[in-house]
Amino acid sequence: MGAPPTPVTAGVPLRPGPGVPPADRALTRPRRRLLAAAAALVALAAVGAGSLLDLRTPAPRPADAPAGEFSATRAYEDVQVIAARSHVAGSPANDQVRAHVEQQLRGLGLETEVQDTVAPEAGQLSGAAGGATLARVRNVVARLPGTDPTGRVFLVAHYDSVQTGPGGNDDAAGTSAILEVARALTTGPRPRNDIVFVLTDAEEACLCGAAAFAASHPLAADGGVVLNLEARGSTGPVIMFETSKNNAKLVDVFGRAAPHPVGTSFAVEIYRALPNDTDFTAFLDQKFVGLNSAYIDGGAIYHTPLDTPAAMDRSSLQQHGDNALGLAREFGRTDLTDLRSGYDATYFPVPRGLVRYPGWLVLPLALLAVLAVAALGWLTRRSGRASTGQLAAGFGLALGPIVAAPVAAQLLWLAITAIRPGYAELLDPYRPIWYRMAVLALAAAILFTWYALVRRRIGPAALAVGGLAWLALLGVLLAVAVPGGAYLTTLPALAGALGGLVALRTRQTGPWPVVAVTAAAAAGVVILLPTVVLLFPALGMAMGGVAALVAVLLGLTALPVVDLLHPQAGGQRGLVALRARRLAALPAGAAALAAVVLAGVGLAVDRFDAAHPAPTHLMYALDAGTGQARWLSHETDPQPWTDGYVDGVASVADDFPGLGDAELRAGPAQAANLPAPKLDVLADTSAGGERTLRLRLTPQRAVRLATLHVDTATATVVRAEVAGRPVPVEPRAGRWGFGLVFHAPPPEGVEVTLTLRPIAAQVALRAMDASDGLDALPGFRPRPPAVGVVGSHSSEMLAVARTYPL
Ligand SMILES: [Zn+2]
Repeated sequence: MGAPPTPVTAGVPLRPGPGVPPADRALTRPRRRLLAAAAALVALAAVGAGSLLDLRTPAPRPADAPAGEFSATRAYEDVQVIAARSHVAGSPANDQVRAHVEQQLRGLGLETEVQDTVAPEAGQLSGAAGGATLARVRNVVARLPGTDPTGRVFLVAHYDSVQTGPGGNDDAAGTSAILEVARALTTGPRPRNDIVFVLTDAEEACLCGAAAFAASHPLAADGGVVLNLEARGSTGPVIMFETSKNNAKLVDVFGRAAPHPVGTSFAVEIYRALPNDTDFTAFLDQKFVGLNSAYIDGGAIYHTPLDTPAAMDRSSLQQHGDNALGLAREFGRTDLTDLRSGYDATYFPVPRGLVRYPGWLVLPLALLAVLAVAALGWLTRRSGRASTGQLAAGFGLALGPIVAAPVAAQLLWLAITAIRPGYAELLDPYRPIWYRMAVLALAAAILFTWYALVRRRIGPAALAVGGLAWLALLGVLLAVAVPGGAYLTTLPALAGALGGLVALRTRQTGPWPVVAVTAAAAAGVVILLPTVVLLFPALGMAMGGVAALVAVLLGLTALPVVDLLHPQAGGQRGLVALRARRLAALPAGAAALAAVVLAGVGLAVDRFDAAHPAPTHLMYALDAGTGQARWLSHETDPQPWTDGYVDGVASVADDFPGLGDAELRAGPAQAANLPAPKLDVLADTSAGGERTLRLRLTPQRAVRLATLHVDTATATVVRAEVAGRPVPVEPRAGRWGFGLVFHAPPPEGVEVTLTLRPIAAQVALRAMDASDGLDALPGFRPRPPAVGVVGSHSSEMLAVARTYPL
C-alpha cells in the first residue's frame, strides 16, 4: 500500500471501471480501507458470535426448582438408575429398568400399564425382503386424562439400551426427561387433551416396541401428536430434526412453545437421506403427526460402554426437558383435530427464535433470488464495474472453491485417518473441535487463495456477482430437489444481491456501500453459520466436506467484505503491485497455516487412551454341529488388538445366516462348550403337496436374539407364522432363502409354523442364537485400557448355530 493507484491498467479504465467493487470507491485510501475492513469484520464476528451463543444449551436447573418446571438435576437421578448398566431388551437388567419406570409413573397417580406383546419391526407388516424381524416387547404406557380432549399427545422415548453400553444418553435422557415432564404436568392444572407417556422397549433391536404401540395399543387407535425424545451423543443443542409430512402447523407450535427451538428444515432433509431410524419411524403413518428431537454432539460414545450417566451433559438434558414440557403444555391445550397443513414449512434458527415460512414460498423466493442477482449483474456491467466477459468468467471461476473446498476437506480427513486408523470406527472423534476448525480454516484458505489468484484479472465486482449467481442457482436446484434446504442458498443470494444493489445506488464516498455489503454478509452468517456448526456433529468428520461446502458458500456471500482485506483493486504497477499481491496472499497463507496447525493439534490432543479408547469390533461364532469356532470382525483394516484374532477375509453367510452376508475378517478360535438353540417339532403334517411344520425354537442359554433360516434348495416357504403372527416370506439372497430374527425370546422359546413345498426329502433348517460378552470364552484376552468397543449392534456378540435336517 502507499501510493495512490494509477488510473489505468491493462487497458482497463479504473474510474469508473471494472475491478472496482462498490465498497471500494470511497476506499482508495489504504488506511480508510483497512479501517472499513476492520469495522466490517468486527460486525460480522459479533453477528456470528450471537448466532452461536443462541445455540448454547441452558444451565441445568437445581433439584429445588419450582414443581411446575423441568429440572435436569431431578431427571438425572432417574438417569443414574436407568443407565446403571447395559439393559438390552429381554435382559433381567431391562426388567429392573422397566419396573423403575413403571413405579415412577404410578407414583404420580397416572393410569399405568405394561403392554406385553410380540411385534414385528416397524414397517415390516407391509412385507420386507429378506425375512422377518420380531421381538417380544414390554412397553410402559401411562395416561394423564385431559379435561375435554380433542385428541392425544404422546411423549415417546425408549427405555432399553444397546448391549455394548448402559445407554446413559441413548435413551436414558429421553426416558428420564419424560418422567420429569410427567411429574411437572401432574403438579399443575390438568391439560385439555390426553397426555400419554410411552416408554418403549426394543428400540435398539428393531423399533419393535414403538411399532407394537402404534399398531395395536388401544390408546394409539385414533392417532395424535407424537413427541419423540432421543440422544445420539452426549452433548450439544437439542435439535428438532425430523417431522411428519405437511408440518407447517406443527413447526409453528414448535417455534412458539419450545423455549429453546433449534431445528431446521434442512435437517429433516438430511435425516431422510441417512440410514438412521428411531421409534418415530413407527409413528410415521396416516394416524400420527409429530416432532423428533435429539442432541447429537459427542457422538464418539454413541452405543459404546462410555455412554454412561457421567458422560451426559446435563444442560442438554435440561434443553430436552424444557422443550418437551413446553410442547406438551402447548399441544395439551391446542385443538388437535386439524394439525396437518397442506404443506411443509421452511424453518431455521436465528438468535432468539425460529424463522418459518410456508413451503410454497420456496420456489418463488428462489426465482426471485435469481432475478435479483441478474439485476445486480446487469447494473454492475452498466456502471462499468465489470464487462460481460468478466461477469461470465467470474461465474465460471466461482465454481472453483465450491468444488475444491469439500474435496480438500475429505482429503484432509483421509490423511488424518491414515495417521490414526481407529477413527474409521468412530462416529466422530472424541475431541473433534480441532479437526472441525481445521476444516473451516482449510475452506477459508481455498477461498482466499482462489480470490487472490483471480481477483486481479476478473475484478472484485464480477467475482462477487459470480458467487451470488451460484448461490441463487443452487437455491433453484434445492427448491426442486430438497426444498427444506433451499433457504440456505436462496436467502443469502437474495441478501447479497440486495446489498450489492444498495451499494451501487448509494453515494460512493460515504460509508453506505460498506454498510450494505456488510449487512448482506451478516444475513449470510446468521443463516449459514449455525448450519456449518450443526453439520459437523450431524454427519461426523468423515463427511466434513459438507460443512466445508456450506462454509465456502458463506464465504462467497461475504466476498465484498473479504475484498476490503485486499489493496484497492485496479492499477498498481511495479513494486506497488508486487507488494499488493504479497498482501493479498496474507489471508490465504494465514488460513492454510491455521489448517495445518489445527489438524496437528487435533492429532496431538485427541490421542487414544483409557478414557478415550480406540474402538475395536469382535464377535465369536460357534458351529455346534461341527464344533468349529471363529473370531469375526467388521473392521475392514483390523487394528493391532483385533489383528490378534483375525487373519483373513471370510463370508459367514452359509454358516451363520443370522450375521448377514457382509464380508468379515475371520480367524480360528477354540470351541466353547455352548449349546445351540433347540428346535423341537411340535407337529408335522402334509396335505395337498404342502408340508406344515409346527416348531419350537428354544435357546438353551440367556440370549439376546434367536434366528431360524430355511435352506430354500430343500423346500420353498409358502407361509410362515411366528408366535401366531403371519410374517412375510419374500426370499432373501443365498442358500438360506428364508429367515427370521426374534429379539428378546422368552425362556420358553418361540413357536414357528412353516408351510413348505418340499424340494428334497428333508428340509434343512439352521437355528442360531446370540448372546453378548466374550469374556468367558477360551482364548479371549481382555482388552488393554486404551482399546475399546465399537458402538455397533453386533459388537461382542457370541453366536451359536446348528443345522437341523427335518
Ligand atoms: Zn440407540
